[in-house]
Amino acid sequence: MSAESNSAVGEHGASKRAKATNRKSAPEPGRATGPRPTRTAKPEARRAGPSEPSRTAGPAPRRAAETETRRAAKPESRLAMVRRARRINRELAEVYPYAHPELDFRNPFELLVATVLSAQTTDLRVNQTTPALFAKYPTPEDLAAAVPEEVEELIRPTGFFRAKTKSIMGLSAALRDDFGGEVPGRLEDLVKLPGVGRKTAFVVLGNAFGVPGITVDTHFMRLARRWRWTESDDPVKIEAEVATIFPKSEWTMLSHRVIFHGRRICHARKPACGACPITHLCPSYGEGETDPEKAAKLLKYEKGGFPGQRLNPPPDYPGRPAPPLGASG
Ligand code: SF4
Repeated sequence: MSAESNSAVGEHGASKRAKATNRKSAPEPGRATGPRPTRTAKPEARRAGPSEPSRTAGPAPRRAAETETRRAAKPESRLAMVRRARRINRELAEVYPYAHPELDFRNPFELLVATVLSAQTTDLRVNQTTPALFAKYPTPEDLAAAVPEEVEELIRPTGFFRAKTKSIMGLSAALRDDFGGEVPGRLEDLVKLPGVGRKTAFVVLGNAFGVPGITVDTHFMRLARRWRWTESDDPVKIEAEVATIFPKSEWTMLSHRVIFHGRRICHARKPACGACPITHLCPSYGEGETDPEKAAKLLKYEKGGFPGQRLNPPPDYPGRPAPPLGASG
């Protein structure tokens, strides 16, 4: 039973004298049968509650539930959704001030190849695979002239290694023949390269060239739908719809923050709602585990105390670097 349910009992049982005596420290509705929480006692009472940590301390499930009830009662206007979406972005910026691309790379060519290799596998597996690949083939010219079977062996851990070998050797040949061995900085050029779609192109443009872009990967799609930014499951439509919600200058970092949140907390199968810092802004609160202790056990990477995905993370990354291939971590 909620604390609110107890309130009527206590309020009706209190004498007028008691009310007068306690006027300055009158109990909140719902607290009269227990210790009388004054203003100063309120945080204590909140901490003691089963599921209402303070906003700064973490999630606010009950607040989220109340918000959801209000939302269910009245459809959200477009303006309200845009405001809520921008607030999510601002609050994620506080949660992940160190958000970054999670592929290791030293130049646009390495980022392009790593992004192609990241299809159907984790960034971690790609990061563990590319050091040996780039040590042997550091330039497009080197990779274009490689023996395919040797490249296949090197990138085998990333899966689909024959198709990926064709793509990275093909794009290397195109870079060598059509772009003077340089990765082009334009979307229309990038998407013509073998194995390069819009998602890969935006990753490269945003992170190697500083051109704003929205990266709609599986995490971004899932979270954009959970947050009611879109109802579509088509990445191109999602990209277009999200682009109308946020200013262009936010697109690249928004993508990193959303993907960070999807990987660490708002997982596909078991979102850790009870450990989520933006429950009060999320219409899908409750889709995952709401018990704070159980939810905390679902957290991944630095949020769960584990290594990140990059072997060479940026200096401000608060977690541990990922281990090389074959090492335990
Ligand atoms: S669905 Fe995701 S974003 Fe929403 S409260 Fe749960 S973990 Fe947080």
